Amino acid sequence: MKDLKLPLQVKQELERVSKVAGYLWDREWAERNAGNISLNLTSFFTKEEVQGKGEFIPFDLPKEVAGYVIFVTGTGSYLRSLIDEMEEASCIIYINEEATGYHIIWGGKPEGFRPTSELISHIKIHHFNSIHKPDQIAIIHTHPIELIVMSHHKLFQDEEKFNHSLWKMCPEVRVFTPKGVHCTPYALSGTEALADVTIKGLKTRDVILWEKHGALSTGTNMDTAFDLIDVSNKGAKLLLACWSAGFEPEGLTDLELKELEQFF
Ligand SMILES: [Zn+2]
Repeated sequence: MKDLKLPLQVKQELERVSKVAGYLWDREWAERNAGNISLNLTSFFTKEEVQGKGEFIPFDLPKEVAGYVIFVTGTGSYLRSLIDEMEEASCIIYINEEATGYHIIWGGKPEGFRPTSELISHIKIHHFNSIHKPDQIAIIHTHPIELIVMSHHKLFQDEEKFNHSLWKMCPEVRVFTPKGVHCTPYALSGTEALADVTIKGLKTRDVILWEKHGALSTGTNMDTAFDLIDVSNKGAKLLLACWSAGFEPEGLTDLELKELEQFF
């Protein structure tokens, strides 16, 4: 039944996902089944292409997301499997027109495969983006080491200071994450409460940092979503390196930071 033919653009987006999964594994940001990834592919398919295919799974969804087509990683799946076993570790779902559930129309090969337990969060974020940032079709959640370390530091409790501490470390951090990091207080993963504070953070920030857990960002594709976390993490890594070397970094001055705003 899963005879969905993937358009060339979709294949290219999935290739990016696979490549980024390799980066996450190399960086030790995706231990075991940590992290999850999704893409809103709705605009790449016609109704005729996606209707009437695949196993139907009842699921409680908001009415507004009826008809969405979403690529998403599996529950318990290892992100490193996306490097060469994509159809085992992920799937494409089509949410039916009543939003009473979804069909798995591609991938999800192992018996009993189900999308990530964070599915509802991903769908809510995609819905938010489809209204406010329609070109942002990619979502990535991963465990970037230095950002997580910094979420245990008292600076995390003051978002302005936290961002200044990262931005001052090198010009690229200021320029490529101009809106900075949202410091989200600890909440249990998989809950709608966490999804809601994440969406609130995405209104003003580039990266959402969940206290003592990990980070999430969205982008026009998987590369740009990854880059936001990667650049923020560089700021955290440089800061921690200075502290490890036993000194407080001088940091870019306010004037130097201001001067960089011409590049946003
Ligand atoms: Zn996580």
